Amino acid sequence: MLTIDKLNFSYGDLKVLWDIDLEVHAGEIVTVVGANGAGKSTTLKNISRLVKPTSGSITFQGEELEKLESHQVVERGIVQVPEGRKIFPEMTVLENLRMGSYIKSARKAREANVERVFGMFPRLKEREKQLGGTMSGGEQQMLAIARGLMANPKLLLMDEPSLGLSPLFVKIIFEIIQEINRQGVAILLVEQNVFQSLKIAHRAYVLETGRVVLTGEGNDLLSNEHVKKAFLGM
Ligand code: ATP
Repeated sequence: MLTIDKLNFSYGDLKVLWDIDLEVHAGEIVTVVGANGAGKSTTLKNISRLVKPTSGSITFQGEELEKLESHQVVERGIVQVPEGRKIFPEMTVLENLRMGSYIKSARKAREANVERVFGMFPRLKEREKQLGGTMSGGEQQMLAIARGLMANPKLLLMDEPSLGLSPLFVKIIFEIIQEINRQGVAILLVEQNVFQSLKIAHRAYVLETGRVVLTGEGNDLLSNEHVKKAFLGM
């Protein structure tokens, strides 16, 4: 579905991604783990065309993304749920959701999608008139995910969805990710919660200073000695 081939990227003189190869197949949850600054967020930004690769190719369903602007990437079905949530604090929950369906294909399905995401997130339904900025961190994260779903994604890019959340919300968020995946959406997940994210991943990649150093099935990586030492404190 998504194929990244020898992606290189620099911020000015600072090279942060080196020959990244990565694939997401239909139906998969793929996790990218790595320490702070390893280049996880930058990889997602290259896919959604918020930044442009220095070299290498990214194709989605057979189409090279090189000529596309970020809104066109969304139209193709790749939707990013950004780190830090970035909901609209002065808008209500419902208004935030509607903002998620700005692309043409999603606009038609807007009201049906509102009902669908409220079905998945009853807590948002209860708060539909509340201002986004007054919601708890976990609720804002739910809203950001729900807003992403409003664009009818085929592939959801998720940047640190569990960051800063209480253990209960972390659990809820990981359940939600699996539920979205069961509904047929492929997921590329960037996480510092290595244990949880490897547990739910079909496959995973370990990034270190901008390079893929390990890849395999989520369960296999959980028992990998390097992963245990570097990320699981074992
Ligand atoms: P974290 O988990 O801390 O967000 P990450 O693995 O997502 O880490 P990136 O955010 O992709 O890492 O950052 C990779 C490197 O690129 C870091 O060294 C970072 O300082 C640098 N970097 C990120 N954004 C910019 C920017 N806009 N300009 C310059 N350098 C940047």
